[in-house]
Amino acid sequence: MGAQLIDGKSYAAAVRAGVAQRSAALHARTGLTPGLAVVLVGQDPASEVYVRAKGKQAVEAGMRSFEHRLPADTQADDLLGLIHRLNDDPQVHGILVQLPLPAHLDARAVINAISPAKDVDGFHISNVGMVGTGQDAIVPCTPLGCMMMLRHHHADFRGLTALVIGHSNIVGKPMARLLLNADCTVMVAHKSSTNIPELARMADIVVVAAGVPGLVRAEWIKPGATVIDVGINRIQRDGKPALVGDVDFENVRHVAGAITPVPGGVGPMTIACLLANTLSAFCHQNGLEDQPLLLDEQDPT
Ligand code: NAD
Repeated sequence: MGAQLIDGKSYAAAVRAGVAQRSAALHARTGLTPGLAVVLVGQDPASEVYVRAKGKQAVEAGMRSFEHRLPADTQADDLLGLIHRLNDDPQVHGILVQLPLPAHLDARAVINAISPAKDVDGFHISNVGMVGTGQDAIVPCTPLGCMMMLRHHHADFRGLTALVIGHSNIVGKPMARLLLNADCTVMVAHKSSTNIPELARMADIVVVAAGVPGLVRAEWIKPGATVIDVGINRIQRDGKPALVGDVDFENVRHVAGAITPVPGGVGPMTIACLLANTLSAFCHQNGLEDQPLLLDEQDPT
């Protein structure tokens, strides 16, 4: 029997619709509009695509979008000056600096200059620390999207074992912390781990964010496990460009209980969660009640 497909595209559409609905209702009640500022330094083509998509989806969700495009040779003082102005701007509730930044800029210093209340990527050290200690905080969008989809499939994480493959600050580490906060038993593997197949075979949940096409193979997977593929890899297949994840999807789908496709899995959820984070930030900054968006109430099926 094949795995159930976790349709991130439909989930994301449901989350975006929920955000748009709440944003409109809050606007009608208060006259205020959530605002998202996206800062892009340089002209990285992939970043350009992401920034355009974020701005477009923010507007579609009833938000204001402020795009700041700066030249690749922007100096740190100028970028920090812009961030301080955005921190002080009452029309801006969320600030996102598109990564990667050009090498001469210190990404850590730039991210930590964003007001933690407006840090809708959840990368500021104060949000990282709060998530790490199980406190309410802004959660990074990709792990938040993964968690929302996982919660839809697992009512309770207690007694389950998860393997997170990849330990980056933006995906792997926060993903592991969120699962741990939900009382899941969590293992984390990375490029220096030597026993990943063995660890994977123990896992009820496998989340992979390694950037290695086809890394996770069918024989690693415990039958019935839930597999979340965060990887986005551009490869050539039969002489044509193709987008694939980190999972050998065609074979793993016959063993897993549920699986995300690439494309159409985690990717769309990431931007939807950015909008959800922006709406939450807007609510907190204006003393409005913030209701977490749950997929249980946004069921696309
Ligand atoms: P990264 O390069 O910062 O980290 C990669 C991680 O994978 C590291 O911890 C590394 O140790 C580990 N790794 C590398 N090779 C490995 C191997 N052979 N076995 C086990 N572990 C290995 O990458 P990242 O920013 O965390 O992104 C990971 C992947 O997820 C990339 O393909 C990226 O494009 C994708 N991504 C997708 C989304 C989305 O919205 N779907 C968001 C962020 C990242």
